[in-house]
Amino acid sequence: MHAKRPTAMLLRVQYPNAICLDERGPMAQDKVTEEYGSLVFSDADMRKRLPKPTYRELSRVIRENKPIDIDIANEVAHAMKEWALEQGATHFTHWFQPLNGITSEKHDSFITPQDDGTVLMAFSGKELVQGEPDASSFPSGGLRATFEARGYTVWDPMSPAFIKDEVLCIPTAFISYTGEALDKKTPLLRSEVALETQAKRVLALFGEHPMRVITNVGPEQEYFLIKEEDFEARPDLRLCGRTLFGAEPAKGQELDEHYFGAIRPSVNAFMKELDDELWKLAIPVKTKHNEVAPCQHELAPIYEQGSLAVDDNLLTMEKLKLLATNYGFACLEHEKPFAYVNGSGKHDNWSISADGNNLLEPGTHPEKNVQFLVFLACLVAAVDKHADLLRMSVASAGNDHRLGADEAPPAVVSIFLGDALSPVVEALIRKEEAETHEGDQLDLGVPALPGILRDNTDRNRTSPFAFTGNKFEFRMPGSQQNLSDPNVVINTAVAEQCERFCDYVAERQEEADKDFHAIAMRFVRHTFRDHHRIIFDGNGYSDEWKAEAERRGLPNLLSTPDALPALIEEENVRLFERYNVLSEAELRARYVAKAEQYAKLLNIEANTMVHMARHLYLPAIISYSADIATSAATKAELGIDAVAEKELAKRLTKGTAAIYNLTDDLEQLNKDARKIEDPGERDNAYRDTVIPAMNALRAAVDDMETVCSKKCWPVPSYNDMLFYV
Ligand code: ADP
Ligand code: MG
Repeated sequence: MHAKRPTAMLLRVQYPNAICLDERGPMAQDKVTEEYGSLVFSDADMRKRLPKPTYRELSRVIRENKPIDIDIANEVAHAMKEWALEQGATHFTHWFQPLNGITSEKHDSFITPQDDGTVLMAFSGKELVQGEPDASSFPSGGLRATFEARGYTVWDPMSPAFIKDEVLCIPTAFISYTGEALDKKTPLLRSEVALETQAKRVLALFGEHPMRVITNVGPEQEYFLIKEEDFEARPDLRLCGRTLFGAEPAKGQELDEHYFGAIRPSVNAFMKELDDELWKLAIPVKTKHNEVAPCQHELAPIYEQGSLAVDDNLLTMEKLKLLATNYGFACLEHEKPFAYVNGSGKHDNWSISADGNNLLEPGTHPEKNVQFLVFLACLVAAVDKHADLLRMSVASAGNDHRLGADEAPPAVVSIFLGDALSPVVEALIRKEEAETHEGDQLDLGVPALPGILRDNTDRNRTSPFAFTGNKFEFRMPGSQQNLSDPNVVINTAVAEQCERFCDYVAERQEEADKDFHAIAMRFVRHTFRDHHRIIFDGNGYSDEWKAEAERRGLPNLLSTPDALPALIEEENVRLFERYNVLSEAELRARYVAKAEQYAKLLNIEANTMVHMARHLYLPAIISYSADIATSAATKAELGIDAVAEKELAKRLTKGTAAIYNLTDDLEQLNKDARKIEDPGERDNAYRDTVIPAMNALRAAVDDMETVCSKKCWPVPSYNDMLFYV
């Protein structure tokens, strides 16, 4: 019988926590506007609850990025607690992002016992501003000895507090006793300050003096949803977030039927609840659709200020996982949960704006828009000069599966400018007048369809760093990544180029006093000429490009161990130190933490493979081959020549031996790699010896999967997991 698709009713029976679409009622619109941001202590809440002078002072402190006075903190803490209690919160936590990139929290209740045996619910300014988690077990890359485990969390007033599961969560930065950054957020905030400072200097030369210059980030998040029971049945998914084994499914993504396809009802119900929950947290999610691979989906919010967007993306990732279980799903956020189909990325859409004006807006005549061209030139130079750092910022064991595998940009960083801007840049380099056309009208050949304007950037999906209209889209980050690292690199590298522009003008002050625009255009032209090699509008997936990129001298850092050393190269250390984003000690610590993370993940994957081979696959194959051999023997006794059984038994026996030996090899190579002390050498050993051994073992097991009976196979297959009903 055909399995029934889950209708709303069925969904309710199967998954009591699921919210059925028919329960949402006709008032959905009012509900959205009413509930939007209801779990966030917003600016409006503060205005309502704080005395006017306090609110004004707090706003000024936030706007001007200044330290907060303890009296103000006490008042904010009180108002925040009152609000949180009204929402049913009993605890608070400093919410932070240690170097493993995920979020951490330790809950403290508000209770303060009184002498008379009662309790008060209290929360002080000091508790709001500063926390001291026992932080000895977080990765620190050696920055903090275990005996000096003290780490402090410090309130980030730019990211609003929110409620999650009856806990008031206060976004914080995490630093050591000596003030060194132990987290992802601190350098991001510092890089935002650096960029703001330098961009304001550039704008001042154009006669503009904005109050704030900020970055805007819109992260597009890809993920997979599979059945929870399949997830639970596979140790590799549970322990590593990805399948380490699995024969090629009969069908993949070749029919392009999933991309933007109709969303199945259970997934739709999940997505709607997710929208509701995220909207309550004032996370402006807007777009959702099916992605290219079967079971793959995407969600994108409207962009927000950079560090806030990163916080909100982390919360989104947490909610994705939590809510999925309400609908009988497991949400996979790994970069490569399945071989043979696309993995998941997270596009980092980035722009810079001054008091709300996007500085990357080209206008109708970019060739005459000097200020735009200066910022564009700064970006091009920043990406060329620090391509190695950008590549480093997205390096992880998971993302190594995607980059360069024809499903994501290659490991070579380049910039796509598109049909509208490339001719402008080329003409500038040739010192010719550039001319641009207003968006062409597209002729659709059907009078009834409204005429549309051609977007002035076509979308080259193969480029790692693409200009898409009025923003750049960095497409290399992996789906489970914390976006702080790439944004730290972009912000700092662009800050450096903004400063270079100011220096360039200062060195030609007399000429600039006469004709500032001429000097600015000379900077633009020279910059495009000097960094021309980074611009590439062609197919980034092609082999020709790899060869061409090499001729151009662009780095092609294929693996994480190749990419990580950029973090501690002298030139890069100077860059981060110059803008007070990260000190040499902090950079070295980050290098060690990232290098260790790579080896640790691969160690877990190798262990999991050994475990699965010995405890699941080998027993299954041996017992199946014994059945076949028994059948062959029985038939032989009856005088029947069981050709197929004999062949199959031989093949299974050979496969068993191969798996047995390859498992031992992998175990040994993993042990050897683990013993290596130097983090860089250890990573190289994992890449050069352990990964090939993992691939060999997988191939042997997958080969057996194709000849064993479904009944004997101990875990769900790709066919089952990717094409469930
Ligand atoms: P796609 O890449 O799928 O075509 P969109 O153009 O719809 O995506 O935008 C993707 C993301 O880019 C969204 O999160 C959107 O809010 C964000 N975005 C749009 N404009 C800007 C901008 N000026 N700065 C930063 N992000 C932006
Ligand atoms: Mg995109």
